[in-house]
Amino acid sequence: MNGATAARYLVFTDLDGSLLDHHNYGYRDSLPQLRQLDSLGIPVIPASSKTRVEIERLRAELNNPHPFIAENGAATFIPVGYFDRQPADTVERNAYWIREMSQPRSAWLEILEELEIDFAGNYESFHRAGVEGIMRMTSLPRPRAEEANLREYSEPVKWFGDDKTRDVFLGRLQAAGAQVLQGGRFLSVCGDCDKGRALAWLRNAYCEAAGGARCHDIAIGDSRNDCAMLEAAETALVIRSTVHEIPPLQRSEGVIYSEDYGPAGWAEGVARWLHLQQL
Ligand SMILES: [Mg+2]
Repeated sequence: MNGATAARYLVFTDLDGSLLDHHNYGYRDSLPQLRQLDSLGIPVIPASSKTRVEIERLRAELNNPHPFIAENGAATFIPVGYFDRQPADTVERNAYWIREMSQPRSAWLEILEELEIDFAGNYESFHRAGVEGIMRMTSLPRPRAEEANLREYSEPVKWFGDDKTRDVFLGRLQAAGAQVLQGGRFLSVCGDCDKGRALAWLRNAYCEAAGGARCHDIAIGDSRNDCAMLEAAETALVIRSTVHEIPPLQRSEGVIYSEDYGPAGWAEGVARWLHLQQL
């Protein structure tokens, strides 16, 4: 490697259905490639609809010290001191430098409460379902369901009604200033943010911290809520899903489609990307 600013490699990854199995949330199949990335000094940056607390638990399990993107891009959390200097446009709280791109959850709960009058019985939200309801909707055990309910910027909604009514519902939410993202299981009601803009912001923070080094990044995802991130990265890795169609992308260059599903596809795709980068 020559020059003062060696290229930086970054892996931004969705969790459920990508790094983690859609059904049992396991990551056995992705572990060998996670270890490989770690040994190469390439950060694995979770970018998920999950909450800060959920991602923190997984990071602790994986010994992952890197920043992460929570709640579909609503906020990016950088451990204080991770970079030499605090990136611009961040607030320091709970040992993180946080880049917030959404209003708080309470704003969306207020809007959903108003819509309850016209759409009763068509949907359930995490807030209203409570921990018991979240356990039923997600098959998560109680402690995990509690973590999933500790949301700060967004509200997951499970839709039970027909498609036509859902479109009216979505229109009303959007008119009230909310954005709605379709995840693997839930609609996510949130602010005007997405994983793509969070990725672009964090990539820039990495490049600046590395003295303007060139950053080669890959975004990995399996669902529609990953599209913005898959479009924003240098390379996109689309993970095949057993439960839904692959997300539609505008780009055709620099896209890897996994052959395998979930974490096995994740490992296979990351290996292909590393090979293409000659790493
Ligand atoms: Mg997913």
